[in-house]
Order: sequence, then structure tokens, then C-alpha cells
Amino acid sequence: MGDKVPEERDFQCRSRGDEHNISLEQILEKLAASAEGLSSEEASRRIGLCGRNVFEETGKQSLLIKYLKQYRNFFSLLLLFGSILSFIAEWLDPGQGNIFIAIALLGVVILNGSFTFIQEYQAERIMASFKNLIPPKARVLRDGEIKEILATEIVVGDVVYLEEGDKIPADGRLIEENSLKVDNSPITGEAEPQLRSLNCTHPNMLECRNMVFSGTLVQTGNGKALIFGTGSDTQIGKLAALTEQTSSVDTPIRKELNDFIKVISAIAIFLGVSFFLVGFLIQDTFLANLIFAIGIIVANVPEGLLPTVTLALSLASKRMAKRNALIKQLESVETLGSTTVICTDKTGTLTQNKMAIHSVYTGSGHLDVEKKANPSDVFLRVATICNNSRLTEEKPGYKGDPTEGSLLVYASEFTDINKMKDEFPRLAEYPFDSKKQRMQVISKTPTGEMEAYLKGAPEVIIDMCSHIMIDGIEEILDEVEKKSLDEQHLVMAKKGERVLAFAYRKADSDNEYDDGFIFIAFAGAVDPPRPEAKEAIKKCHLAGIKVVMITGDHPVTARSIAETVGLTDDHIEPVLITGSELEELSTEELAQRLKAPSIVFARTSPIQKLKIVRAFQAAGEIVTMTGDGVNDAPAMKNADMGVAMGSGTDVAREAADMVLLDDNFATIVNAIEEGRTVFDNIKKFIAYILTSNVPEILPFIAFVLLALPLPMNVQLILAIDLGTDILPALSLAVEKGEGDIMKRPPRSREEKLLTPQVLLTSYGIKGPIEAAAGFACYFAVLFDGGWKWGQQLPFTDTLYMQAITAFFAAVIVCQIANVFTSRTRRQSVLTKGFFSNRMVLLGIASELLILAFIIYNPLVNLVFNTAAISMKYVLIAVPFALLLLGVDEFRKYAIRKDSPFVTRFFKW
Ligand code: ADP
Ligand code: MG
Repeated sequence: MGDKVPEERDFQCRSRGDEHNISLEQILEKLAASAEGLSSEEASRRIGLCGRNVFEETGKQSLLIKYLKQYRNFFSLLLLFGSILSFIAEWLDPGQGNIFIAIALLGVVILNGSFTFIQEYQAERIMASFKNLIPPKARVLRDGEIKEILATEIVVGDVVYLEEGDKIPADGRLIEENSLKVDNSPITGEAEPQLRSLNCTHPNMLECRNMVFSGTLVQTGNGKALIFGTGSDTQIGKLAALTEQTSSVDTPIRKELNDFIKVISAIAIFLGVSFFLVGFLIQDTFLANLIFAIGIIVANVPEGLLPTVTLALSLASKRMAKRNALIKQLESVETLGSTTVICTDKTGTLTQNKMAIHSVYTGSGHLDVEKKANPSDVFLRVATICNNSRLTEEKPGYKGDPTEGSLLVYASEFTDINKMKDEFPRLAEYPFDSKKQRMQVISKTPTGEMEAYLKGAPEVIIDMCSHIMIDGIEEILDEVEKKSLDEQHLVMAKKGERVLAFAYRKADSDNEYDDGFIFIAFAGAVDPPRPEAKEAIKKCHLAGIKVVMITGDHPVTARSIAETVGLTDDHIEPVLITGSELEELSTEELAQRLKAPSIVFARTSPIQKLKIVRAFQAAGEIVTMTGDGVNDAPAMKNADMGVAMGSGTDVAREAADMVLLDDNFATIVNAIEEGRTVFDNIKKFIAYILTSNVPEILPFIAFVLLALPLPMNVQLILAIDLGTDILPALSLAVEKGEGDIMKRPPRSREEKLLTPQVLLTSYGIKGPIEAAAGFACYFAVLFDGGWKWGQQLPFTDTLYMQAITAFFAAVIVCQIANVFTSRTRRQSVLTKGFFSNRMVLLGIASELLILAFIIYNPLVNLVFNTAAISMKYVLIAVPFALLLLGVDEFRKYAIRKDSPFVTRFFKW
């Protein structure tokens, strides 16, 4: 047990700023701590005294600013402009009801902005809650044992263990380090990893090498630090304005939306201004023309769009979370959907990362692993000492790196691990890194000599050996022997085994050795593929997504695993590119090789992933890249979508756009499906909502050109855009993907939200049908009421009111058919169960309810200038609604049958 810190001994919660240049004794004294850590009681006492290790992030945008930002889009500005014009109209000619329009428009803008704001706020909360699902942890010495605790529980005086990939949880002074390098950029902005040491090297604390700071990252190596500053008393906590670290790069969906808003606003303004001017040619009443212009603009703006997009994205993010994929930024959902290439790690993502030793080959031949044949002592020693994992009770029996864990589990069957660790204390460690592909430890033997233990990739280790151990006797390792070893490890790799080589030598210092080793054995570990991986890869292939496997393993092992997970088939032989080839290939050659349908990168170091990402992106691909280690971060940041493993390092999770809680490749594929669905649904929404613009605009055209009594007024337009259309449109956001969603190629970069095809379908077919229905009902009422062509009617005439009521009712009846058909883009809507999206039914119910009020409620009649009509006029619209359904079904059918004409003009 560690030295108990006397309860009453005094210590300071706050750092004094001299912790780097006082002696270790002094700082221990000051913190009332010891190198063996604190006791649990003392730690909780200190939490009570100094508080938890958290700090408030300042400098975040205030809610008010965020709220106001919702109004900073063209649609809101247009509507505001319309509102102002209506106020002016009211002022010029009071009592014409323009004040209602002005207020209604203003209300709409505020509602729209508020709704989007609430949506975004909730989404942000969801994103934040995702973060809490994977709280930062830390390993500390408490009661003399290593314990994993929440980073928030760390107190001054704690001794914290640091390892590659960790985010440092608090400010500390190093008391032990092995080749420790940290990335201090979160504090100093300096990106170059900084070497650490135990000595004070600089009078300035930030520059001093014996310091580690909260929020910075361990790049390589490991160490132990004594904590002297927590929470807001850390360097990072003191940095006053911590701006949010979300990148400002536009996501694909953001670009699409901006484009969409531009086009639609341009159409709205163009039509509005034209009608204003054309109006003057016919009748130069400034005011009436102004109101029409407003009506036209309002009719064109798809009011519910922005909140719907946010809603669709946040619903998708919630569904993804249920499927173990946490995204950090809402819009990433859609980015994922447009992925064309997934570059995935092998270990842990395609495989289970549950290693087990499968075969051992020594200088004297194969050991029968199944029959538990005894390996040599020196093999067990290297396997145990040159190893950073720990045995545990729970499955899979170890903690730490699975390759090392499997070795420890294997060795523990033959020897007492802990006893051996005590007998051969470590003097120095040169940790594994994926570039050097080896790890070395120098230990002291019980007889007081020194030995170097080495393990790593076979090619690397064999090269460092001059001798080989055969039946307990050292022999020279000649070229012939080397060749036979080379063949041997390939035989193991062909079986899909990850092969490690083991060697040792005498040492006379604790420096790292590069040669003169004695080869001991190869051990092959198998990592069974995830059962879901094969199915998921097949799904990707069907969906036109290329799956690229990247691994540090030997090409032969990689090839074998590629086969088991279905990256190869009878026709496809994967193109294998090794790390060293990757270095040599020119950009053009690489681009050429990347065209292959199946690609496996072997003996690749994570740093090379960046080159791979860039090469794919240069070829126009949208790249999703997975990673878990420190070195994966640059590639993940540069990829369109970075995906971190939940079990990965803090560094990787920090760099990622999405975190996989289950590390599973299949989860990425599920998430892609959600992303594709979102894009589809937003498109469906747009196609639906644009349709009603036609029956909203044509009445004004008819009024101006044919001198008909205006068949639709601005209030009724608003009743559609902001009343009846809203719930049905929202319901499309929760529609499940169509059956073919993962059977078609990814959306191309050219595929826009708003395409000519969408416009043609909505404005060219469905909209005119709705307008025809409106005019049919409108004329039916008028002619039945004895109206003659060319006759003008005052707005207050009951016949006029009934006519516009009929027009409105017809549009609603058609929109009901429209929302129904909009549930699919290309599949027959009949493939969707009638009840499979309850929201659609709810939406339709809301339309009918609003319609009933507008027709029959006398008070509502006053607001909209409508009047009760007989049901028979409403029913006139039904055949039009059926026609709309039929025509759209035909459109979808023709697209499925690849009709060139329909496909060209109406496929979206
Ligand atoms: P991957 O990307 O598949 O996880 P790594 O970069 O981790 O690959 O490993 C590359 C090679 O380095 C492995 O094939 C193995 O030979 C060797 N290796 C892996 N882990 C260790 C380790 N802890 N110690 C020594 N060598 C290792
Ligand atoms: Mg690895």
C-alpha cells in the first residue's frame, strides 16, 4: 500500500506557477502527496475541498446570437421584406386587411426562426449527450493500485498514468517517462510533438519539458505525472476565450441548401418583380400590384424547409445513435450518405480484435499449441516482459493491446507472469510504434546482468538477428536460415495469422539495440473476422461503395483476411499495395491503381493513411476513413468523414466526425444508409412543397392576364404554406428509406437537392394538375352562381368568397394525394405500407382539419375571406388527385424501366 497521506497535512488546491522549477521533494511536500499516489478517502476529501476536475467553457456563442442567426437566411429576409411592404400598404391605404398579412408574415418569420432554433438547440443537446456517453477516463494510482476513474474525479496530488493516444486530464509534473512526446497544440498552437523529460528545461512553465498540460495529447511513449492543477486552475482552463472547435468547412448538405435557397429566392424575386411591373401595364394601381408581388414572393418561399432539414438530420442522428454510431455534427449525417469510398482498418473493425495465439514456430520447429507444448523459458520471458498488457479476470482475459494481451494469456499458461515481472525488472522501454513495428525492453536478470527483449514484425526482427536459438543452443543465422525463416512466416501469414517475431540479446547498457539479436520464435495470432463484416461489405458493394482495407499487417496475412471478409470473389482479385510501394508510387500511378474495384493496403503505417485519403479525394471520391490511434488523426481530419472507434484513443475520437461505440464496420454501413435516407427525404420534401407553389402562383397570373377575379388570396397562400403543408412535409422527414436505397450507386457530386428534374416534376406535372383542380372547382362555383366570363366581383361578394374557398379546397385535396405519392422517389408508393408512416396520416388529418375550419368556421371565414361551400364542389377535385397519383406512379414506373425520356426529364 502507498504511503498514507496524513489527513490533516496541508496542501494547496491552486497551482502557484512554480511547479516546474522546484525539486520533486518540494512539490510532493507542497501537494502533500507521494509518488505512490493518494488514498481513496484522501482523494474524495480533496474533491470536497477543491472541486471536480471540470471547467466552464467560456467564449461560447450566446443563445441570443445563435437565435438571431436563424434569421440570417434569404427566406427569412424575403418574408420580412414582404411584411414591411404590407405594413407600408396598410399605412398608405388603411383598412384593406393588409395589416393582417403584415402581421402574419412577421409571425411566420418568427415561428420559422424559433422552430429552427429549437431544433438546433435540441440537436446540440443530443450531440452533447453523445459526448457524455464516452466520458474521458484516466488511470491513476489510488490506494497503491492502478485504478481507472473518470477524468473529472482527478485531484491535486494524484499520480496519473499516461499512454500513447491519451488526452491528458489535468496539469501535472512528470515523475516517470519513456520516450514521451506530447502534442501541446491545444495550448501553444505548436503542432510539432514535443519531447518530454524529467528535468526543468526552461524558466517558462509552458516551455518546460517536465510539464504535461490538461487538454493536450500524448503522441508517443508513456509516463507518470503528479497532478498539481485541476479544473479551471489548469493552463487550458485559464485560456479565457475558448472558442468552439467545430470546423467551419461547409458540409455537402450545407452547400446544397445554400444553392437551393439561392435558386428559389431568385425565382421568387424575379416573379415578384415581373408581376409588379406587368401589373402596371394593365392597371396601374400601385398598391394592388404591391400586394400581388408580395403574394407571389410568399408563395414561392418554402417556409418549413430549414426546420425540416434540421429535424430530418436530428432524427437520423438519434436513429444512428441507437445503432451505435455517434455523430458530432448534425450535418455529418448526410456527408456519410454521400460516401463513395470507405477506408477501413482491419484490426478491430473488420475483425473482432480478440487475438489468440494460434501457432508458435521456433528454431526447432512447430510447437503444438493445442496440446500445450511447453515453449522455452526465454520465449516466455520476451513474451511477458516485452509486453505492456495486463491479465484480468474478465473476458477476454487481458487489458491493453490485443496482440500483446494474447501473448500474455498464452504465456500465463506456462509460467507465473507476476513472479517473472518481479524477477526481471525493466530498466528501459522502447515502445511499439507502427512505423518501426517493433518493441524493445531492457531488463535486469536475477543474476544482475542485463538483457534486451525484442518483438515485432518478422521482416524487421529477422534483420536485427545474427543468431538463432535451436534446441537451446545459439547458432549463427546465415542467409539460408534467414530464407527459411522468411518462408516460414509467410506460411503462417497465409492462414490469416498476424505473425510476431521474438528475439533477445545480452545488453550492457539500457540503450536501444539495433542488431546482434538471437532469434527465438515466431508466434501467430488469429483475430477472427466479425461475423457481420462480410454481409456489410456485400451491402457496400451493392451500394456502389468501394471498401478499402488498410492494415499494418503483412500482405499475405492481409490478403487472407480480405478473402474471409469478402473483399475478394471469383472475379475480383484485390490490388495489394504495401506501405513501401505507396511511398514510391507517383501520384498518377497511385491514381491508376486506386481505380481497381478492390484494394488492400498492407504494411501501411497510419501516417500513410493521409496520402491515401488525398489520393482518393483527388480522384473525386468522398472518403470515409476509420481510425483509432494517434497517427490516424490527420487522415481522419482530412477525410470527408472521420470515423473513430469507441475503444480508440482520445486523440482519434477528438479528430473524428463520428464515433462507433461498437467498433464495428457494419455500423458504418448502417449509418451510411441513414445518411442516404436523409438526403432522399429532403428531396421528397422539396418536391412536395414546391408543387403547391404552382396553384399559388397561377391565380395571380390568371388575374393579371385574364382579368379573372383573383382565385386565391395571400392569406390562403399562407394557410397552405404554413398550415396545411407543414405537418405532411415534416412527415416525409421520418420516412424510411426506399427498398433500393443501398442498391444504387452513391449520389454523385453533381446531384443537387434541387435539380431541373425535381422542378419539372413539381412545376411541370404535379403543380399544373393541382392548379387545374383549383380552377375546375373555382369555375364550377362561379358558373353555378350565375357568373359571366369577364365579370369582376368585389372581394366582399359571397359568390367570390365561395369560389376562392373551392379553389383552396381543391389544392388541399390534391396535396393529400401529393404527400402520399411523395413518400417514394422511384419505387411504387404501393411498396410502402399505408400505415407504415403514421406521421403522414397525422399530416393528412391536419390538412383536413384546417380545411374544415377554413370552409365552415365563420370566424375563420372572416380572416381568410372564405365562405361555406357544398361538399360537391370539393369532390370535383378528387379525380384530379387520383390523376396526380396515377401520373406520378407512371413516372416512377418509367424510371424503373429506364425509359430514356422520363429518366432524362423526371428522374430525381
Ligand atoms: P494494424 O493496423 O493491423 O493494427 P499495426 O501497425 O498495429 O497494424 O501492426 C503492424 C505490425 O507490427 C503487426 O503485423 C505486427 O507484426 C507488429 N506488431 C503489432 N503490435 C505489436 C506490438 N505490440 N509489439 C511489437 N510488434 C507489434
Ligand atoms: Mg494495431
